[in-house]
This record gives sequence, C-alpha cells and structure tokens, in this order.
Amino acid sequence: MPKERPTITSAAATPAGWSSECSAELYGINTWGAGYFDLSEQGEAQVNVDFGEHQVAVSIMDIVLGMRARGLHMPAVLRIRNLLDHRIKLLNESFAQAIEQGGYQNTYRGVFPIKVNQQCHVIEEIADYGRRYHHGFEAGSKAELIIALSQLKDHDSLIVCNGYKDAEFIDLGLYARQMGIACFFVLESITELPLVLERSRILGVEPLIGVRIKNSVAVDGHWSQDSGDRSIFGLSTDSLISIVDNLRDAGMLHCLQLLHCHLGSQIPNIRNVRSGVLDACRFYAGLVEEGAPMGYLDLGGGLAVDYEGARTNSTHSMNYQLHEYCTNIVESICETFDPLGIAHPVIITESGRATVAYSSMLLFNILDVRTSSPGPIADNLPADCNETLVNLQSALKTVCADNFQESYNDALFYRDELREEFHHGQATLRERALGENLYLAVLQKVAAILPQLNRVPPELENLPELLSDIYYGNFSLFQSLPDIWAIDQVFPIMPIHRLNEQPTRSAVLADLTCDCDGKIDHFSTPEGISRTLNLHALKPDEDYYLSVFLVGAYQETLGDLHNLFGDTNVVNVAIDPDGTFEFEREFHGDSISDVLSYVEYEPKQMQEKFRLVAEDAVRSGKITIAQRQSILRAFKESLHGYTYFEHE
Ligand SMILES: *Cc1c(COP(=O)(O)O)cnc(C)c1O
Repeated sequence: MPKERPTITSAAATPAGWSSECSAELYGINTWGAGYFDLSEQGEAQVNVDFGEHQVAVSIMDIVLGMRARGLHMPAVLRIRNLLDHRIKLLNESFAQAIEQGGYQNTYRGVFPIKVNQQCHVIEEIADYGRRYHHGFEAGSKAELIIALSQLKDHDSLIVCNGYKDAEFIDLGLYARQMGIACFFVLESITELPLVLERSRILGVEPLIGVRIKNSVAVDGHWSQDSGDRSIFGLSTDSLISIVDNLRDAGMLHCLQLLHCHLGSQIPNIRNVRSGVLDACRFYAGLVEEGAPMGYLDLGGGLAVDYEGARTNSTHSMNYQLHEYCTNIVESICETFDPLGIAHPVIITESGRATVAYSSMLLFNILDVRTSSPGPIADNLPADCNETLVNLQSALKTVCADNFQESYNDALFYRDELREEFHHGQATLRERALGENLYLAVLQKVAAILPQLNRVPPELENLPELLSDIYYGNFSLFQSLPDIWAIDQVFPIMPIHRLNEQPTRSAVLADLTCDCDGKIDHFSTPEGISRTLNLHALKPDEDYYLSVFLVGAYQETLGDLHNLFGDTNVVNVAIDPDGTFEFEREFHGDSISDVLSYVEYEPKQMQEKFRLVAEDAVRSGKITIAQRQSILRAFKESLHGYTYFEHE
C-alpha cells in the first residue's frame, strides 16, 4: 500500500522567491513526467518531444488556448501523437537492445491489447507508426479482432486472440491465416479446442494455436488475483496435458506454437516479473519436451506506469525501468533454455498501459470553490447571548500551542451542544451560524499549529482535509476517470499554469455529478499519497485549468454516462520539430441529444412533446407566442449543446 502522509500544509503566505522549480517539486512532475512533461520558467506545464538532435517544448496552455479558439471547450481529452509514437519506439528499441546485449537468438514482437484504448485514432496510429517495428494487436473479442484485421497493414506483425471464441470468431481468424496473417488462437479452456479443430477442418485452414497457462507466481499490486491458482483465466496443468494429447491424436500438434501468460496489469515489482517469466519458461520447456514445435513466448501485459513517480513497489508505482524489464525477460529466458538446448523463442509482450498512458491527458477548468473558511466573526458577542456561544468564543480566544488539543475538544463539544440546543428550539438560526463560524475558526487555528509539531495526534490527522477547500471541476469522474472510482487509481493532477505563484489553498476536487463518489481526494506527491492537493486561489474573470495526466490507458472506454454526462471533446495534436503544433483531429463530444438517444429517448419526439406543453401555455394565456418561440429555441439549443458546463 502507498504510505499515507497526513498533509499539514496550511494556507501560508507566499514567500518571495517561489518559482516554477518549487512547483515542479511540489507536484513531482519531474518524476512521474518521465521527461515527457515538465514546467517552463514562465510557470506553465509543457510537453517535451525529442527529435533526436533537439528537443521541443510546447506549453499545454497554448494548446488549450488554441482549442478554445476552435470552439473546443473544457473538459477535453488531449492526445499528443508524438508521445504515443515515442512509447512504441522505446518499447521496441529497449527490447532490441536487451536482445543484442544478451546475445539472444530471436526477436521481439509487441502486440497492443486493443481493450486498453480502442479509440479508432489511437489504434490507427499504433498500426501506422508501429509498422516499422512489426507491432501487432491483441484482440479479446470478435469486435477487437475485426478492428485488428481492418487496421493492421504489415504481415510481419502478429495478431493474438485471447478470450472466449465462438465459431464466427474462429472463422475470422482462420480467414486471416489463409491470407497470410500470423493470427494466433490462444486457448483459455479445454472446451475451445474441438471447435477450433472442427472449423479448421471445414475451412481447410490450419490454425496457429497458443495455450494460456495459469501462472503459479502471485504478484503484488491491485491485480494480484489475476495471477496464481485463483486466476479465472488460463488452463490448469492437467487441461494443458489434455490439449497436447488431443492435438497429437488429431495429428495437429505442429499447430501448437505459442505459450501465453498474463500476470496481471500494473505489476509494480520487478521480482514478480522475473519469477513469472521463469515459471512460463518451464511450461514452455515442458511443451517442447512433449513434441510441440513452439517458437513464441507471449508474456502478456503488466509492464507498469509510475503514476506516483516514486520508483517503489507500491501499487501505483514501479521499482524498475523499461530497460530492466526487457533485460530481465531476456536473461530469464536464456537462463532457462540454454542449459536445455531449447531454441530462443520470439518474445511477445502485450503491453497496453505502458504504451498509451502517457499520450493522453484530461483537461478541465474549475467552476467554483467552496472554502471552509469561517464567515466574519464580530469581536463581541450579542449582549444576551447563548451561554454555549460564550464558551465557544473563549475556546477561540485562548487557543495556543500549549492547549490546542484541549481547545479542539472544547470547540467540538460546544458545537455539538449548540446543535442540540438548536434541535430543541433553544438556539436561533443566527446563533447556530455564529457558533459554526467560531468552531471553524478554532479548527483553523489548531491546524496552523500542527506543522510545528513533531507528532500530530491521530485524532487531528485529518484536520487539514476537513478544512480543505472543495474545487468543483468541469468533468465527470465516471465518464473520464472511471478507475479513480472503481479501483482507487491515483493519477498525477496539477494546474497547468500560474506555477510561478505559490498555490496557497489546500483542496479536494469534486466533479459535476453531485455524486458523493464523484470526488478526488487521493493525490500522488513525491512523499506518497496525500489527501489534499495544493491549488491557487481563483482569480475573478480568469479561468483556472487543471490537467489529469497519464490517462491514456483504460480510462477512455470504461467510462459511463452517470448523470448523462457524455463523451468529452477530444483533440489530437502533433508537435513539429520547429515547435509549432497541429490540430490533427478534433472531435466534439456528445451532445445532450446524443446521450438521450443512448438511453432510448427520441430527441425529435421530446421536442414535439415540449412544443405541446408550450402551446398549451399560450392557449391558457401564461405566455405570448413570441415567448413561446424563444422558449422552444432555448430548448432546442440545449438539446444540441455539450453535456458539460458551457461558458457563454
Ligand atoms: C489487459 C490485458 C493486457 C494489458 O495489460 P497492461 O498491463 O495494460 O499492459 C494484456 N494481455 C491480456 C491478456 C490482458 O487481459
């Protein structure tokens, strides 16, 4: 588990000399940013692109302004094509280097698991750029196989089919074989084999067969149950033997060429990767011994992303670098196979997260802030004042470093007492309001004392969180960041401008859904997980923009229509060597009419029904015909508008 750090950052005054570097340190961008993101001297977050001879940096704010000018409003997903290309390049070249250095006698073939980001333009780019490395696809369903078959342009790339397969799925894969595409069926259960053999006989095409094993290595991190004996995927050793026997009996053992194992996603610990590979190699060797030709070792996904930038084996981090991952795999295979005289197989990995996470970010503006600051408190209480209020005021007047715990307890006690009195009609609404203000004022004074302590008393640890502001963001967690809700994923989040100014507020984020789960109150910091995020006070008449980074994996399609907030706007940008950038693609997100039709409404009919309501109002004299016209116009405009908060 990531370590929890009670944040005791108070709203201190900005010391002179706050700079971008201070912000970089505060938000940890130089660690999780992996060189792709950092801060400019002007205090803006920027994207770095490496063009070999030189680097180019583009301010994300400049892109946001360009989007605004094009009518692409917040929230929006920004995809940077260069970063996706660079990840593919890095993955392939790191393996190539490990292969060369390790004297490995075969090659690497990556396949991108489509489920991780199915968006057409992401897949097209992977097919397009990945072609030079023969980067292929992993498909987990018929729909994904159809995507792979239609996008792949290179016949040296592989297609690996996992998941449950029916006759139609198998036929598609066999047709691909017939056309010369290396399309593997990975058997996940023994019941799939008869169907594969039957379809193959009927179509007269030999299949390429792989087997998915249950790895007995248990891994750390969130997906630990995907691995080991409890995994719902993969063949038991006994089923594996049955498959070999059945294939041999059918005279088809020569079709068994691939061993597949997937340890789970986001494996934070390199030791797990290593033992997983060693285990898979033993299975592979066993199949070779049984007489299967083999030739391909598919190690699945699992290559992690360091969302925290902490370089540890905690769930959202990783304690290894990409080159170590590659070297460990290559070495483990050599170590097992060389003494046995087994030829080195083609190494396949199905790295999804590590390929696409960096290339997308979610941008949104802040709509409103609710501070927890107490309202104004007069020096003197009203003459005939409630006794409890007098006690609260004296707690406020006397709080100091020596008695803060006592003052805190008093404030809590008298606040509760006042609420009780209010409940029984013994305190007025105004008295209650004043009492709550006094209570908050005590808490603030106590919170200001905490940073000076060596040890914060446990009951006060969440005081800073309790006193933090709520920043309302123009986004839906359920649509755009489902993993925060579903699996407590942590993504790096920070403002993308004003980073020359010290952020003086401490905040949690809430989305537009008004759902109590629609909030973000876990943030990665260089010191671990924090319950609050430091942000700047809003300026009147100026938008304040935040970005959630590293959201390219899994977030785009797992999202749902909670409160009918639909797909966001999406922009694909390519950065050129001269530092300019190009809006390659723009997509306007769902309109209200779009999301309503997803839940079976008929927007035309709704308009007609509303027309009848308005017409009725005209007939009964409530509105004029002219008013009717503007009401109907407003209704229609809303129907075709963005589902998120729009500025005029
Ligand atoms: C989800 C999945 C992947 C992708 O895993 P990452 O950790 O995102 O790389 C690969 N292979 C299989 C079988 C999967 O289910």
